[in-house]
Amino acid sequence: MNEEKQNKLLSIVSPVYNEVENLDEFYSRVLSATGDLNLETEIIYINDGSQDNSIQVINKQSKNDDRVAVIDLSRNFGKEIALTAGLDHASGDAVIVIDSDLQDPPELIPKLVEEWLNGYDVVNAKRIKRKGEGSLKKITSYIYYRLLFYLSDINIPIDTGDFRLLNRCALDALLKLREKHRYMKGLFVWVGFKQKEIEYEREARYKGKTKWNFFSLFNLAFDGLTSFSIIPLRLASIVGFLSAFFGFFYGLTIVVKRLFFQEQVVGFTSLVVLITFFGGIQLLSIGIIGEYIGRIFNETKNRPLYIVKNIKESVFSNRS
Ligand code: UDP
Ligand code: MG
Repeated sequence: MNEEKQNKLLSIVSPVYNEVENLDEFYSRVLSATGDLNLETEIIYINDGSQDNSIQVINKQSKNDDRVAVIDLSRNFGKEIALTAGLDHASGDAVIVIDSDLQDPPELIPKLVEEWLNGYDVVNAKRIKRKGEGSLKKITSYIYYRLLFYLSDINIPIDTGDFRLLNRCALDALLKLREKHRYMKGLFVWVGFKQKEIEYEREARYKGKTKWNFFSLFNLAFDGLTSFSIIPLRLASIVGFLSAFFGFFYGLTIVVKRLFFQEQVVGFTSLVVLITFFGGIQLLSIGIIGEYIGRIFNETKNRPLYIVKNIKESVFSNRS
Protein backbone atom coordinates (compact mmCIF):
# COMPACT_ATOMS: atom_id res chain seq x y z
CA MET A 1 0.00 0.00 0.00
CA ASN A 2 1.03 3.53 -0.68
CA GLU A 3 2.85 4.92 2.33
CA GLU A 4 1.77 8.51 1.81
CA LYS A 5 -1.89 7.68 1.89
CA GLN A 6 -3.90 7.86 5.07
CA ASN A 7 -5.37 4.62 6.15
CA LYS A 8 -8.90 5.57 5.14
CA LEU A 9 -10.63 3.61 2.44
CA LEU A 10 -13.25 4.87 0.01
CA SER A 11 -15.46 2.28 -1.72
CA ILE A 12 -16.99 3.25 -5.05
CA VAL A 13 -20.05 1.05 -5.63
CA SER A 14 -21.43 0.91 -9.14
CA PRO A 15 -24.19 -1.31 -10.56
CA VAL A 16 -23.67 -2.53 -14.10
CA TYR A 17 -26.32 -3.74 -16.50
CA ASN A 18 -25.29 -3.83 -20.15
CA GLU A 19 -22.82 -0.96 -19.92
CA VAL A 20 -20.03 -2.43 -22.01
CA GLU A 21 -19.32 0.81 -23.89
CA ASN A 22 -19.09 2.89 -20.74
CA LEU A 23 -17.00 0.82 -18.38
CA ASP A 24 -13.46 1.66 -19.49
CA GLU A 25 -14.26 5.34 -19.63
CA PHE A 26 -15.90 5.05 -16.23
CA TYR A 27 -12.85 3.35 -14.75
CA SER A 28 -10.39 5.91 -16.02
CA ARG A 29 -12.54 8.86 -15.00
CA VAL A 30 -13.03 7.45 -11.50
CA LEU A 31 -9.31 6.84 -11.14
CA SER A 32 -8.38 10.30 -12.28
CA ALA A 33 -11.03 11.86 -10.03
CA THR A 34 -9.86 9.96 -6.96
CA GLY A 35 -6.11 10.00 -7.72
CA ASP A 36 -5.37 13.16 -5.76
CA LEU A 37 -7.45 12.24 -2.76
CA ASN A 38 -5.54 11.27 0.30
CA LEU A 39 -7.41 7.97 0.47
CA GLU A 40 -7.22 4.39 -0.64
CA THR A 41 -9.91 3.60 -3.19
CA GLU A 42 -11.66 0.42 -4.21
CA ILE A 43 -14.19 0.08 -7.01
CA ILE A 44 -16.93 -2.49 -6.54
CA TYR A 45 -18.84 -3.40 -9.66
CA ILE A 46 -22.03 -5.41 -9.42
CA ASN A 47 -22.83 -7.16 -12.65
CA ASP A 48 -26.61 -7.30 -12.59
CA GLY A 49 -27.05 -10.09 -15.13
CA SER A 50 -25.77 -8.14 -18.14
CA GLN A 51 -26.36 -9.81 -21.49
CA ASP A 52 -23.50 -8.03 -23.20
CA ASN A 53 -19.77 -8.30 -22.50
CA SER A 54 -19.77 -6.06 -19.45
CA ILE A 55 -18.58 -8.89 -17.23
CA GLN A 56 -15.50 -9.52 -19.40
CA VAL A 57 -14.59 -5.84 -19.30
CA ILE A 58 -14.87 -5.53 -15.53
CA ASN A 59 -13.14 -8.84 -14.94
CA LYS A 60 -10.26 -7.58 -17.02
CA GLN A 61 -10.09 -4.34 -15.03
CA SER A 62 -10.13 -6.37 -11.86
CA LYS A 63 -7.37 -8.65 -13.09
CA ASN A 64 -5.11 -5.71 -13.86
CA ASP A 65 -6.00 -3.74 -10.75
CA ASP A 66 -6.48 -5.43 -7.40
CA ARG A 67 -8.48 -2.47 -6.11
CA VAL A 68 -11.35 -3.51 -8.38
CA ALA A 69 -13.90 -6.00 -7.03
CA VAL A 70 -16.52 -7.76 -9.13
CA ILE A 71 -19.74 -9.22 -7.78
CA ASP A 72 -21.45 -11.22 -10.46
CA LEU A 73 -25.14 -11.80 -9.71
CA SER A 74 -26.88 -14.91 -11.00
CA ARG A 75 -29.39 -12.89 -13.03
CA ASN A 76 -30.83 -9.41 -13.37
CA PHE A 77 -32.22 -8.38 -9.99
CA GLY A 78 -32.75 -4.71 -10.74
CA LYS A 79 -30.73 -1.70 -9.77
CA GLU A 80 -31.92 -1.32 -6.17
CA ILE A 81 -30.96 -4.89 -5.28
CA ALA A 82 -27.70 -4.72 -7.23
CA LEU A 83 -26.77 -1.65 -5.23
CA THR A 84 -27.52 -3.49 -2.01
CA ALA A 85 -25.26 -6.37 -3.05
CA GLY A 86 -22.46 -3.87 -3.66
CA LEU A 87 -23.00 -2.09 -0.36
CA ASP A 88 -23.00 -5.42 1.47
CA HIS A 89 -19.50 -6.08 0.17
CA ALA A 90 -18.01 -2.61 0.60
CA SER A 91 -15.26 -2.40 3.19
CA GLY A 92 -14.66 1.34 3.03
CA ASP A 93 -14.84 3.95 5.77
CA ALA A 94 -17.15 5.65 3.33
CA VAL A 95 -18.94 4.48 0.20
CA ILE A 96 -20.03 6.35 -2.88
CA VAL A 97 -22.89 5.02 -4.95
CA ILE A 98 -22.55 5.99 -8.60
CA ASP A 99 -24.08 4.87 -11.92
CA SER A 100 -21.67 3.33 -14.37
CA ASP A 101 -23.17 5.10 -17.39
CA LEU A 102 -21.36 8.32 -16.40
CA GLN A 103 -24.57 10.23 -15.82
CA ASP A 104 -23.25 10.89 -12.35
CA PRO A 105 -19.97 12.69 -13.03
CA PRO A 106 -17.06 11.00 -11.20
CA GLU A 107 -15.42 14.44 -11.05
CA LEU A 108 -17.85 15.26 -8.24
CA ILE A 109 -16.36 12.56 -6.00
CA PRO A 110 -13.73 14.85 -4.40
CA LYS A 111 -16.50 17.28 -3.43
CA LEU A 112 -18.53 14.50 -1.79
CA VAL A 113 -15.43 13.35 0.05
CA GLU A 114 -14.65 16.89 1.17
CA GLU A 115 -18.05 17.20 2.87
CA TRP A 116 -17.57 13.81 4.48
CA LEU A 117 -14.23 14.93 5.89
CA ASN A 118 -16.00 18.09 7.08
CA GLY A 119 -18.04 15.83 9.32
CA TYR A 120 -21.19 14.95 7.39
CA ASP A 121 -22.41 11.34 7.51
CA VAL A 122 -24.39 11.34 4.27
CA VAL A 123 -23.65 13.61 1.33
CA ASN A 124 -26.36 13.73 -1.35
CA ALA A 125 -25.80 14.96 -4.87
CA LYS A 126 -28.81 16.88 -6.06
CA ARG A 127 -29.22 17.41 -9.79
CA ILE A 128 -30.08 20.90 -10.84
CA LYS A 129 -30.18 20.06 -14.54
CA ARG A 130 -30.73 16.83 -16.42
CA LYS A 131 -29.24 16.53 -19.85
CA GLY A 132 -30.16 14.05 -22.52
CA GLU A 133 -33.49 12.98 -21.06
CA GLY A 134 -36.85 13.40 -22.78
CA SER A 135 -39.22 16.10 -21.58
CA LEU A 136 -41.86 13.53 -20.60
CA LYS A 137 -39.40 11.84 -18.24
CA LYS A 138 -38.36 15.21 -16.85
CA ILE A 139 -41.96 16.30 -16.24
CA THR A 140 -43.11 13.03 -14.70
CA SER A 141 -40.08 12.81 -12.45
CA TYR A 142 -40.60 16.47 -11.45
CA ILE A 143 -44.18 15.72 -10.41
CA TYR A 144 -43.33 12.38 -8.82
CA TYR A 145 -40.58 13.66 -6.55
CA ARG A 146 -42.83 16.42 -5.29
CA LEU A 147 -45.75 14.05 -4.75
CA LEU A 148 -43.53 11.66 -2.85
CA PHE A 149 -42.13 14.52 -0.79
CA TYR A 150 -45.59 15.52 0.40
CA LEU A 151 -47.07 12.03 0.79
CA SER A 152 -44.24 10.21 2.52
CA ASP A 153 -43.44 10.15 6.19
CA ILE A 154 -39.83 11.09 5.63
CA ASN A 155 -38.41 13.97 3.62
CA ILE A 156 -37.00 12.31 0.56
CA PRO A 157 -34.95 15.09 -1.02
CA ILE A 158 -36.39 16.37 -4.27
CA ASP A 159 -34.49 15.63 -7.51
CA THR A 160 -31.87 13.51 -5.81
CA GLY A 161 -30.95 10.19 -7.38
CA ASP A 162 -28.82 7.47 -5.88
CA PHE A 163 -25.53 9.30 -6.35
CA ARG A 164 -24.26 9.96 -2.83
CA LEU A 165 -21.70 9.25 -0.14
CA LEU A 166 -22.36 7.42 3.11
CA ASN A 167 -19.96 7.03 5.95
CA ARG A 168 -19.56 3.73 7.80
CA CYS A 169 -22.20 4.50 10.48
CA ALA A 170 -24.85 5.42 7.94
CA LEU A 171 -23.94 2.45 5.78
CA ASP A 172 -24.14 -0.03 8.65
CA ALA A 173 -27.54 1.35 9.56
CA LEU A 174 -28.72 1.08 5.96
CA LEU A 175 -27.56 -2.51 5.69
CA LYS A 176 -29.83 -3.47 8.55
CA LEU A 177 -32.84 -2.71 6.35
CA ARG A 178 -33.48 -5.91 4.42
CA GLU A 179 -36.87 -5.21 2.87
CA LYS A 180 -37.51 -6.75 -0.54
CA HIS A 181 -39.08 -3.75 -2.24
CA ARG A 182 -36.15 -1.48 -1.84
CA TYR A 183 -36.64 2.11 -2.69
CA MET A 184 -33.06 3.12 -2.03
CA LYS A 185 -33.61 6.86 -2.33
CA GLY A 186 -36.02 6.56 0.58
CA LEU A 187 -33.94 4.13 2.63
CA PHE A 188 -30.90 6.41 2.43
CA VAL A 189 -32.94 9.12 4.10
CA TRP A 190 -34.80 6.88 6.52
CA VAL A 191 -31.58 6.02 8.38
CA GLY A 192 -31.13 9.66 9.29
CA PHE A 193 -27.71 11.01 10.36
CA LYS A 194 -26.21 14.33 9.45
CA GLN A 195 -27.00 14.89 5.80
CA LYS A 196 -25.59 17.42 3.40
CA GLU A 197 -26.63 18.28 -0.13
CA ILE A 198 -24.44 19.42 -2.97
CA GLU A 199 -25.65 20.36 -6.43
CA TYR A 200 -24.55 19.18 -9.83
CA GLU A 201 -25.66 19.05 -13.43
CA ARG A 202 -26.68 15.59 -14.52
CA GLU A 203 -24.94 14.54 -17.69
CA ALA A 204 -26.42 12.64 -20.58
CA ARG A 205 -25.49 8.96 -20.71
CA TYR A 206 -22.02 8.44 -22.15
CA LYS A 207 -23.09 5.53 -24.39
CA GLY A 208 -25.99 3.11 -24.61
CA LYS A 209 -29.54 3.78 -23.51
CA THR A 210 -31.54 3.77 -20.31
CA LYS A 211 -32.70 0.40 -18.92
CA TRP A 212 -35.89 1.81 -17.54
CA ASN A 213 -39.11 1.63 -19.43
CA PHE A 214 -42.50 2.98 -18.52
CA PHE A 215 -43.50 -0.07 -16.51
CA SER A 216 -40.29 -0.48 -14.54
CA LEU A 217 -40.33 3.21 -13.67
CA PHE A 218 -43.98 2.94 -12.65
CA ASN A 219 -43.08 -0.03 -10.47
CA LEU A 220 -40.25 1.84 -8.81
CA ALA A 221 -42.47 4.86 -8.32
CA PHE A 222 -45.08 2.68 -6.64
CA ASP A 223 -42.45 1.02 -4.46
CA GLY A 224 -41.41 4.47 -3.34
CA LEU A 225 -44.95 5.45 -2.46
CA THR A 226 -45.98 2.22 -0.79
CA SER A 227 -42.75 1.81 1.18
CA PHE A 228 -42.92 5.23 2.71
CA SER A 229 -46.56 6.21 2.82
CA ILE A 230 -49.93 4.70 3.62
CA ILE A 231 -51.73 7.81 2.43
CA PRO A 232 -52.96 6.05 -0.76
CA LEU A 233 -54.81 3.58 1.46
CA ARG A 234 -56.28 6.39 3.46
CA LEU A 235 -57.22 8.16 0.26
CA ALA A 236 -59.35 5.17 -0.70
CA SER A 237 -61.31 5.47 2.52
CA ILE A 238 -61.67 9.24 2.18
CA VAL A 239 -62.98 9.01 -1.37
CA GLY A 240 -65.31 6.17 -0.34
CA PHE A 241 -66.61 8.20 2.55
CA LEU A 242 -67.22 11.29 0.42
CA SER A 243 -69.04 9.36 -2.28
CA ALA A 244 -71.22 7.54 0.25
CA PHE A 245 -72.04 10.89 1.79
CA PHE A 246 -72.91 12.35 -1.58
CA GLY A 247 -74.98 9.28 -2.51
CA PHE A 248 -76.94 9.48 0.71
CA PHE A 249 -77.97 13.09 0.28
CA TYR A 250 -78.68 12.66 -3.37
CA GLY A 251 -80.99 9.76 -2.48
CA LEU A 252 -82.66 11.90 0.14
CA THR A 253 -83.45 14.67 -2.34
CA ILE A 254 -85.00 12.12 -4.68
CA VAL A 255 -87.28 10.81 -1.93
CA VAL A 256 -88.28 14.32 -0.93
CA LYS A 257 -89.03 15.27 -4.52
CA ARG A 258 -91.12 12.13 -5.03
CA LEU A 259 -93.13 12.50 -1.81
CA PHE A 260 -93.73 16.19 -1.61
CA PHE A 261 -93.45 17.50 -5.12
CA GLN A 262 -94.73 14.50 -7.06
CA GLU A 263 -91.73 14.74 -9.37
CA GLN A 264 -90.86 11.57 -11.21
CA VAL A 265 -87.18 10.85 -11.31
CA VAL A 266 -85.85 10.43 -14.81
CA GLY A 267 -82.26 9.94 -15.81
CA PHE A 268 -81.07 6.59 -17.03
CA THR A 269 -77.91 8.26 -18.29
CA SER A 270 -76.98 9.77 -14.95
CA LEU A 271 -77.51 6.34 -13.38
CA VAL A 272 -75.10 4.68 -15.76
CA VAL A 273 -72.58 7.45 -15.24
CA LEU A 274 -72.80 7.11 -11.48
CA ILE A 275 -72.51 3.33 -11.53
CA THR A 276 -69.47 3.29 -13.78
CA PHE A 277 -67.85 6.15 -11.87
CA PHE A 278 -68.25 4.59 -8.46
CA GLY A 279 -67.52 1.13 -9.82
CA GLY A 280 -64.26 2.54 -11.09
CA ILE A 281 -63.40 4.10 -7.76
CA GLN A 282 -64.12 0.83 -5.99
CA LEU A 283 -61.86 -1.14 -8.30
CA LEU A 284 -59.16 1.47 -7.96
CA SER A 285 -59.35 1.25 -4.19
CA ILE A 286 -59.15 -2.52 -4.28
CA GLY A 287 -56.18 -2.17 -6.61
CA ILE A 288 -54.40 0.11 -4.15
CA ILE A 289 -55.05 -2.34 -1.33
CA GLY A 290 -53.80 -5.11 -3.62
CA GLU A 291 -50.52 -3.27 -4.22
CA TYR A 292 -49.88 -3.21 -0.50
CA ILE A 293 -50.94 -6.81 0.00
CA GLY A 294 -48.69 -7.94 -2.85
CA ARG A 295 -45.77 -6.27 -1.15
CA ILE A 296 -46.63 -7.90 2.17
CA PHE A 297 -46.72 -11.23 0.34
CA ASN A 298 -43.28 -10.66 -1.12
CA GLU A 299 -41.85 -9.72 2.26
CA THR A 300 -43.20 -12.84 3.94
CA LYS A 301 -41.53 -15.21 1.50
CA ASN A 302 -38.22 -14.50 3.15
CA ARG A 303 -36.10 -15.18 0.12
CA PRO A 304 -32.57 -13.78 0.00
CA LEU A 305 -32.36 -10.44 -1.76
CA TYR A 306 -29.98 -11.68 -4.42
CA ILE A 307 -27.84 -14.66 -5.43
CA VAL A 308 -24.15 -14.22 -6.15
CA LYS A 309 -22.73 -16.37 -8.92
CA ASN A 310 -19.10 -15.31 -8.67
CA ILE A 311 -17.24 -12.89 -6.56
CA LYS A 312 -13.80 -11.40 -6.78
CA GLU A 313 -13.00 -9.19 -3.87
CA SER A 314 -10.63 -6.26 -3.85
CA VAL A 315 -7.31 -6.25 -2.05
CA PHE A 316 -8.94 -4.30 0.77
CA SER A 317 -11.74 -6.72 1.46
CA ASN A 318 -10.27 -8.26 4.58
CA ARG A 319 -9.42 -4.99 6.20
CA SER A 320 -10.99 -4.54 9.55
N1 UDP B 1 -28.80 -0.88 -13.69
C1 UDP B 1 -28.70 -2.12 -13.04
N2 UDP B 1 -29.72 -3.03 -13.16
C2 UDP B 1 -30.86 -2.76 -13.87
C3 UDP B 1 -30.96 -1.48 -14.50
C4 UDP B 1 -29.91 -0.57 -14.38
O1 UDP B 1 -27.70 -2.40 -12.38
O2 UDP B 1 -31.73 -3.62 -13.93
C5 UDP B 1 -27.69 0.10 -13.57
C6 UDP B 1 -27.17 0.66 -14.89
O3 UDP B 1 -26.14 -0.13 -15.40
C7 UDP B 1 -26.67 2.03 -14.47
C8 UDP B 1 -27.62 2.44 -13.36
O4 UDP B 1 -28.19 1.22 -12.87
O5 UDP B 1 -25.36 1.98 -13.96
C9 UDP B 1 -28.69 3.39 -13.83
O6 UDP B 1 -29.41 2.80 -14.88
P1 UDP B 1 -29.96 3.66 -16.11
O7 UDP B 1 -28.90 4.55 -16.64
O8 UDP B 1 -30.58 2.71 -17.07
O9 UDP B 1 -31.09 4.53 -15.40
P2 UDP B 1 -31.35 6.11 -15.57
O10 UDP B 1 -30.04 6.79 -15.40
O11 UDP B 1 -31.92 6.28 -16.92
O12 UDP B 1 -32.30 6.44 -14.46
MG1 MG C 1 -28.44 6.43 -16.46
